[in-house]
Amino acid sequence: MAAPTQPDHRHSLPDFSNTEQAYAHLSSGELSKSFWLFRLVGSSTLVRLGKHAMQWALALRIPVGWIIRPTVYSQFCGGESIDESEETVAKLATSKVHTILDYSAEGKELESELDKTAHEILTAIRATRNDERHAFGVFKVTGIAPTAILEAVSAGKPLDEHGSKEWESVANRVAALCSEAAAVQTPIFIDAEESWMQLAIDELAEQQMRIHNQQEAIVYQTIQLYRLDRLAYLKDLTARAESQGFRLGVKLVRGAYMEKERSRASERGAPSPIQPSKIETDRDYDAALRWCVDHLDRLSLCAGSHNEASNELLCQLMAERQINPSDRRVWFAQLLGMSDPISFNLARAGYNVAKYVPYGPIRETIPYLIRRAEENSATAGQSSRELELIRKEVLRRKQEK
Ligand SMILES: Cc1cc2nc3c(=O)[nH]c(=O)nc-3n(C[C@H](O)[C@H](O)[C@H](O)COP(=O)(O)OP(=O)(O)OC[C@H]3O[C@@H](n4cnc5c(N)ncnc54)[C@H](O)[C@@H]3O)c2cc1C
Repeated sequence: MAAPTQPDHRHSLPDFSNTEQAYAHLSSGELSKSFWLFRLVGSSTLVRLGKHAMQWALALRIPVGWIIRPTVYSQFCGGESIDESEETVAKLATSKVHTILDYSAEGKELESELDKTAHEILTAIRATRNDERHAFGVFKVTGIAPTAILEAVSAGKPLDEHGSKEWESVANRVAALCSEAAAVQTPIFIDAEESWMQLAIDELAEQQMRIHNQQEAIVYQTIQLYRLDRLAYLKDLTARAESQGFRLGVKLVRGAYMEKERSRASERGAPSPIQPSKIETDRDYDAALRWCVDHLDRLSLCAGSHNEASNELLCQLMAERQINPSDRRVWFAQLLGMSDPISFNLARAGYNVAKYVPYGPIRETIPYLIRRAEENSATAGQSSRELELIRKEVLRRKQEK
C-alpha cells in the first residue's frame, strides 16, 4: 500500500520582496510620505536632535502636535482614541492583518494616573469583544505600576506597609486586565521591559498564566532573547507549565532596551545581561523559535520581529513539521508602520499576522515614537531595507502607468 501523502505546506512560503502586495493598502501619496519619513529617521543625527527638541518642548509644555501628527505619529500610531484608530483597524483587516490595540502611556507614577491607564487598557480589551479583526490585547506593567515597586520586588527587597499596598494594587490591576481578556476571549500579551523590573513582571505573568491558561493560552508572557539568560528561562518555563498544568503563551522578541541595559550595567560595574553581539541574539532568537515549534503541544507562540530571516525561518519550520500556516498556535506580529512587506505577504500566504496599533494622546505616545525613530536609525539595516522596498514599489507603480 502506498504511504499516505502528507499535506505539504511549503507552497505557501511568503515572498517578502513582493512590494505590490506589501503596499497595496497605501496610496502613492502615502507611500512617498513613508519614504521621506524613513529617510529622515535613518539619520542618527536628526533623530538625536529631534529627541532633544521633543523632550525640551514637552518639559516647557510647548505644543508639538502640529509637527508630530502628520509625520511620525501618522506613520506609527492609529489615532488618539480607539474610535480614531478604527480606520487603521479596518484597513489592516481588508488585507487579513489583525490588530493589537496598544494604549501608549508610559512613565506614570501616581496611583490615580495608574488607575486611569489600567481603565483605558480595560476599555481597549473590551473593544475586541466579538470582533475578529483584533487578535490580542496588550499592556506594559510599567504603565500600571510605580517603577520603584517593580524594581524593589525584582531585587527581592522587603516591602514596608506602603510598598506592600502598592504591590497589591499592581497585582490587582494585572489580574483585572487578564480576567477581562479571558472574559472576552481575546488573548493578551504582557510586554517585557528592563531587566531590573522583569523579575516582578515574570512573577505576575506566570501567576496569570496559571489562572487563565488551563485550556488555551489567554495570557502570553514576553521573552527577550537579547538577554543571556532567556533561552534557558524559556525552557524552564515550558517545563514549569507542564508540571503545573497550564498552557504556556509566549511572545518572542529580541529586546528593545539594549543601550539602557548596557549603560546601567557599566555604571554599576556589573556584568551586562545582554548578549555580547547581535550574532548571539540572533542565534538565541532562532533557537527559541525552534524550541517553540517543537513544543506546540504545550505552548502557543507569537514571533514579534521585523527580521526577515527569523520570520522566514519560522515559516520553514512550520512547513517542515506540517503545521498549517493558519494554525492558531502560531502568530507573527510587527509594529504599525514597520515591515509591511513581512506582515502583508505573510497574511497573503495564509499565516496569522497582527500589527501593534499604538494609540493615545500625542504627548503620551512620544516616548514610544522616540524609541521607533531611534530603532530605525540604530538598525541601519532595517530602515535601509524599508527604504529599498518602498523605492522599489514607487518605481514599479511608475512603470505600470
Ligand atoms: C510585535 C512586537 C512586539 C514587541 N514587544 C516587545 C516587548 O514586549 N519588549 C521588548 O523589549 N521589545 C519588544 N519589541 C521590540 C523588539 O524587542 C525589538 O527591539 C525590535 O523588534 C527589533 O528586533 P527585530 O527582531 O525586529 O529585528 P532586528 O533588526 O534583527 O534586531 C534588532 C535587535 O537585535 C538586538 N541587537 C542589536 N544589536 C545588538 C548587539 N550589538 N548585541 C546584542 N543584541 C543586539 C536588539 O534587541 C535589537 O533591538 C516588540 C517588537 C514587535 C515587532
